[in-house]
Amino acid sequence: MPNRPGERLDRRDFMIASVATIGASAGLVANASSANAQGSPTSAAGASFATVYTGDVIQGKKVVSALDLDDLEPGRKHLLYFQGVEMPTGQHWYVSVTVAKGAKPGKRVVLVSGVHGDEMSSVQTVQTVMNQLDPARMSGTVMAVTDVSRAAMEGMQRRWPNAGRGIDLIDMNREWPGNENGPTAPSRHAGLLFNRLLRPNADAAIDFHTGTTGFEVTAFNIAGMDVPEVRAMVELYPVGQIFDNHVYPGVLHNAFMDVGIPAFTPEIGAARVLNLEMIGPFVEGTMNVLKHYGVVAGPMGRTGKDVSVFVGNSAFPILATEGGLVEHLVRLNDKVEPGQKIAIQRNSFGEVVAEYTSGVAGAVTGQRSDAMAEPGNPLVFILFHKDAPDRSETYPE
Ligand SMILES: [Zn+2]
Repeated sequence: MPNRPGERLDRRDFMIASVATIGASAGLVANASSANAQGSPTSAAGASFATVYTGDVIQGKKVVSALDLDDLEPGRKHLLYFQGVEMPTGQHWYVSVTVAKGAKPGKRVVLVSGVHGDEMSSVQTVQTVMNQLDPARMSGTVMAVTDVSRAAMEGMQRRWPNAGRGIDLIDMNREWPGNENGPTAPSRHAGLLFNRLLRPNADAAIDFHTGTTGFEVTAFNIAGMDVPEVRAMVELYPVGQIFDNHVYPGVLHNAFMDVGIPAFTPEIGAARVLNLEMIGPFVEGTMNVLKHYGVVAGPMGRTGKDVSVFVGNSAFPILATEGGLVEHLVRLNDKVEPGQKIAIQRNSFGEVVAEYTSGVAGAVTGQRSDAMAEPGNPLVFILFHKDAPDRSETYPE
């Protein structure tokens, strides 16, 4: 390339112009609305924002970049898009927000699904609850956000394909409460949602999940049962297992708990499919929670008292030690004893290369559903009671 003085000058002019443009953009952003001032003291403190309509309308739904439920008209449903983080192309990821705003004031319950993109029964559970609500007869508000991890949901996969150094797959349920100025799109997306949509509008929150692709679970709730407000909600579910454990930081329900909002995580069967038999009891339990808070009137449905509930505070993992095909010898919800053989594994010749036994007395909570496994893969989780439970358990919720 020739290296003429004029060309260098052009290049320098271009760079100066770019800096000026960036400065102008930053000014515009700062002036657009307080809600766009990322990392401002207000957002760090988690204070509520006034509703900000961006002016965009997508498929007939208005777009907001911050929401205060008090700004919505009572006695009706509102369908909105919340403007999440930007994609590499500069457009935004929008998440679907359904608000059933009661005619009378009352508690605000937030229902979330789609933090993992392959967990479809969680979405249908939330939608079914919302479709049963009549805001004209409600005292309080229910807000549903059904597709939090939009980038992951588009591919119906667990994790968010983030354009970092090439594609990273990021588990969004390790990112909460997020950071509006974080190093990845999922971290920023989590921060925007938590600060401007979820936290300011929640008196209680439920973050619905299922097992993950290749690993099926039974119906159960993950909850810190030592917290009375949480226990009161979870006991209203006619669901057969409770994993009484605070699990680990970064999951959405713990981000709510950390700021004093009672929250827990239901788990509804296998990923990728709709399990209607399991969805029903979770809908019933969630309607019970809304009755418990006085948002919805009417008699309680079935609760935990109407089914036999197995409560454990620890999940015993059985990991593959070999590669090969895994055959399960027990089924989800089966009670198992220490030493009981629960799976065998064969190599490509059909020879048995491993036999797996339970180390505890408990109930089968999850099983690998992909038949092939390599060493280290979780094959089975057994829910059991441990006298001195770990405060922070690894569980692929
Ligand atoms: Zn999940």
